[in-house]
Amino acid sequence: MVHRLLCSAGSLALAFGLAAAPLLAQTSRAQAAPATELRVFDAALVDSSVDPCENFYRYSCNGWFKRNSLPADQTSYGRFTELAELNRRHLRAILEDASAAGSARTANEQKIGDEYASCMDTAAINARGIKPLAPELARIDALKSALELPALLAHLHSIGVDAFFGMGSSPDYANASMVISAYGAGGLGLPERDYYTRTDAKSVEQRKQYVEHITKIFALAGEQEAQAAEDAATVLAFETRLAKASLTETEERDPQNLNHPTDVASLEKSLTHFSLADYLAALHAPDTGKANNTQPKFLAEFDALVADTPVSTIRTYLRWHLLHAFAGTSLPESFDQENWNFYAHTLNGAEKPQERWKRCTLRIDREMGEALGQTYVAKYFPPADKQHALAMTEDIEKAMDKDIDSLDWMSAETKVKAKEKLHTVMNKVGYPDKWRDYSKLAIVRGDALGNAERVHEFETARDLAKIGKPADKTEWQMTPPTVNAYYDPQMNNVNFPAGYFQPPFYSSKEDDAANYGDMGSTIGHELTHGFDDEGRQFDKDGNLLNWWTADDEKKFNERAACMVKQYDAIEAVPGVHLNGKLTLGENLADLGGLWLAWEAWLDKAQAEHVDMRAKADGYTADQRFWIAYAQQWCTQTRPEQLRSQALTDPHAPDEYRTNTVLQDLPAFAKSFSCKPTAAMVSATPCRVW
Ligand SMILES: [Zn+2]
Repeated sequence: MVHRLLCSAGSLALAFGLAAAPLLAQTSRAQAAPATELRVFDAALVDSSVDPCENFYRYSCNGWFKRNSLPADQTSYGRFTELAELNRRHLRAILEDASAAGSARTANEQKIGDEYASCMDTAAINARGIKPLAPELARIDALKSALELPALLAHLHSIGVDAFFGMGSSPDYANASMVISAYGAGGLGLPERDYYTRTDAKSVEQRKQYVEHITKIFALAGEQEAQAAEDAATVLAFETRLAKASLTETEERDPQNLNHPTDVASLEKSLTHFSLADYLAALHAPDTGKANNTQPKFLAEFDALVADTPVSTIRTYLRWHLLHAFAGTSLPESFDQENWNFYAHTLNGAEKPQERWKRCTLRIDREMGEALGQTYVAKYFPPADKQHALAMTEDIEKAMDKDIDSLDWMSAETKVKAKEKLHTVMNKVGYPDKWRDYSKLAIVRGDALGNAERVHEFETARDLAKIGKPADKTEWQMTPPTVNAYYDPQMNNVNFPAGYFQPPFYSSKEDDAANYGDMGSTIGHELTHGFDDEGRQFDKDGNLLNWWTADDEKKFNERAACMVKQYDAIEAVPGVHLNGKLTLGENLADLGGLWLAWEAWLDKAQAEHVDMRAKADGYTADQRFWIAYAQQWCTQTRPEQLRSQALTDPHAPDEYRTNTVLQDLPAFAKSFSCKPTAAMVSATPCRVW
């Protein structure tokens, strides 16, 4: 799989179903059902002892903080996790029903039910030890020279092992209506490349802990302690070379850095020590000529590494990534425990592992999310909610249309193009129109590891089959139960999974002030992604094509620089500032999105003659709008997780997604009669959209 630019609403660590192979402790609060009903606007959570003009986040969320301590198995816990946890309990019930073997099960129920039962059966998994991996380990041991690497790597990639580089399908940057093959950087065991290069004491310590972790995994797989330690050091040194040749997170956000069109024949010629033809043949990948080498420097370094690395080092590196790929829920609990210990505890601060059922539920959502999701939406997403969601999205698009007209910095010429793009956005709500066909995927009860391999083989084949064909804009990159949303710049569509359209983010029982302040701001957020520093580089058809006049581009960049400076100044944890450039797209989307939701709601309230000053639950309608906005971000986060987030996440931490955004909005200050000198009022507010 190759990195694709998708702009999500929430932090990926929180996204239900998006975490990478090493399972970060995510959602939770298992059995304990929420004591009170989840509400979009909740007056009971407001702390009136805090001045709303001094710290609106604390004012809106203190009541929630008092009720919700951070559970020991969590690295952060907020409204997103609160809902993801509720959804997970719903999914668990569906999976437990499906796992009760009976002749009445549909084909999909057999698959999700038997896979869930296999994942839960730790006695069987423990008893088999690492035997199920023996054929794969033997294949790696049999690697005698780099000449044999292409076929081996193709096999490992097909079963989901992230080694060296990634290869998969991707829409063509020049013509997004067609799918081509794409190559990208990969093969690292730490979260991203800067973990290998930072020189501060904490990062040095984390690399030491990473080596200890690899040592333990090798030892669990049967290596002698001294050999395991030596091999672990080898892995770190090898990965460091790959990391140094990879783009940074910030560089990866600019599509220009990833756009290097080529063709398979030229790529093949450029790799002098690795036969791409052999690799593609073993992978059964269609050769359609056109390709994108997203990271040429990386692939060149890979080629050099193959030539100058002893084959024993390559074997060690591949053995590590094989074990790493399956350490989560497919191998014995000793592997699982060690995997948790490093990725969730050491890197992100979790105090205890999540219960097995939670991780197995997440696994099935990742593996067969559209089979599980089909039952989920039938139970929890009524058609009326879908209609309401689409109507809200259209209202917010109308507000953006008016907003573009009103911009004083953009020329009429660029405005025409911006509106063309806005009018072409496809709105996707809830779930796919056409469900994924899993009929070619075999799931065997009692074979957790084999199932994981077959799922990856199925997904690899499905992905490769898209190459050379027209792009399918109706396909989803998130599963229906996911508590998140995204904008896809190459498809020019906004995507809101059914799992997100639930309290505390949206409720058909609450009024528009609450729903527009909360879910409306998210809809605005995703739409604004089409026009942020990254999204604005794509035209209405998703092609990477500049539609801006030079002067408008300059003005956009000047305005965006205001936000880079604003977020660069924030010290999230002692010694770690936010990265204004890395978070720019999300910050633009937060500010623009809330602005749009506010305008859309004002228009609707006016049309419906809503009395804005009339109070409900002690607050005027406009105040309830802002409080509902802030309450979606109430989150407790461990310092370790906050540090990871500040370093790697394109989303700012939740406190700033509330306070910093609102400081730039004069309408907010007016609703709470804040003085110009108040902390919640910026002296130099930023505004782009
Ligand atoms: Zn976003």
